[in-house]
Amino acid sequence: MKSQLHRLRDIPAVDTILNAPDLAPLLKAHPRWLVVDAVHGVLASLRQEIRAGRDLAAEEMSLATIIPRVAKTASEMGRYHLRPVVNATGVVIHTNLGRAVLPEEVLQQVMRVASHYSNLEYDLAKGTRGTRYAHVEDLLCRLCGSEAALVVNNNAGAVLLGLNTLAEGREVIVSRGQLVEIGGSFRIPDVMKKSGCHLVEVGTTNKTHPRDYRNAIGEQTAALLKVHMSNFEMRGFTREVSRREMVSIAGEAGLPLMEDLGSGNLVDLSTFGLPAEPTVQESVRDGVHLVTFSGDKLLGGPQAGILVGKKAILDRVKKNPMTRALRVDKMTLAALEVIARMFLDPPDAQRRIPTLRMLSTPPSALTARAENLARRIQSLAGDAFAVDIMEDLSQVGGGALPETPLPTCLVSLSTSRISVNSLEEAFRAADPPVIGRIRHDRFLLDVRTIQDEELETVARVAGEVAARAS
Ligand SMILES: *Cc1c(COP(=O)(O)O)cnc(C)c1O
Repeated sequence: MKSQLHRLRDIPAVDTILNAPDLAPLLKAHPRWLVVDAVHGVLASLRQEIRAGRDLAAEEMSLATIIPRVAKTASEMGRYHLRPVVNATGVVIHTNLGRAVLPEEVLQQVMRVASHYSNLEYDLAKGTRGTRYAHVEDLLCRLCGSEAALVVNNNAGAVLLGLNTLAEGREVIVSRGQLVEIGGSFRIPDVMKKSGCHLVEVGTTNKTHPRDYRNAIGEQTAALLKVHMSNFEMRGFTREVSRREMVSIAGEAGLPLMEDLGSGNLVDLSTFGLPAEPTVQESVRDGVHLVTFSGDKLLGGPQAGILVGKKAILDRVKKNPMTRALRVDKMTLAALEVIARMFLDPPDAQRRIPTLRMLSTPPSALTARAENLARRIQSLAGDAFAVDIMEDLSQVGGGALPETPLPTCLVSLSTSRISVNSLEEAFRAADPPVIGRIRHDRFLLDVRTIQDEELETVARVAGEVAARAS
């Protein structure tokens, strides 16, 4: 291979490019640092190609070629890193894709509060210092039927805080069947360790009896913990101690019972045709002393961890210095207040909260949406793809109702022009990225999680991918 190193001299200087008249529009559209970075990036890749021995044509080093490359790099660099994507996976509560899509009303309220000063920690009636937690506490108590409530950064934080408050340096009893790992490295035993309490495991993987808890209670016991199994189900020869039994075992021993509900559900899901999932209200009514759940799973709200329960316990939690470290932002509180108000009228919540709407979309509407999308794709992508409609199952996600199949409708794309992996990659590289899934050599778009106003966008992306594949 002949050395191409002498060609390095032919690469234009940075200043030559920056001063080129054709670059002026770029310098208008982007900050100077970004354009300079983009120029350096493009020149570095030219150098790399030369060092790798590629015989570059003179034209490839001309301003006419370099400037459009700089423009492309600059526009990629100018784009925000965190940006919207189309969720065509059918997983409704998708942690990797941002969990909840917030209702319009929530965004408007967040904007109103965040673009002004607010009474975040100011008591308007008294003209004195107030508390940020007051804005949603009464609302959450009314919704959950609890004596008190507190909101922190997320449910992992709520569990950590609850355990630390109730049992630092002492023992907490948990069933072996509930020592779960939730996605993203949240493991109950690890969280317990970090909270400073000692885990006492009772029962076996498949069976735990009331006597297992009773026998484990001793002088060092500070609390009993019940954990929602979230992302798996046990079937067959199993025995769990019911919540009511646990409340009475804890009561006999004068100990608090804490329950991590995970997803946290405030409405009767059977009205959506889903299996009944235990509600926060039931836990509170059964007498659980401290209940924790997420704000952005089945609630469809902002990321938050919500603690509800007995006033005496929440008073202790509020005084824990860890509460300050897990404090929620005003934007979260503004969003949560709107969401909580919606839940006071469940049919309203179902209409307005996208998570609930997506979970309860009837099959006929999904079929109609899939047909609509397929038609649009066919008209924009011509005959590049074989476009089919298929029936399949969506998932709730977020560690809620793991075994609940949600019948759905997919648009399936396949083509002989490129591999299915390249097809998936092309949709993922689009603007906005469209995230689907692959099965049996087909690229699948589940319309359950595609918003109506996104159908046109998905079809446009399909058209662009088709044009590039042909
Ligand atoms: C999801 C989940 C958590 C963690 O909640 P985040 O809001 O994601 O912090 C904790 N416990 C259970 C049982 C869960 O399902």
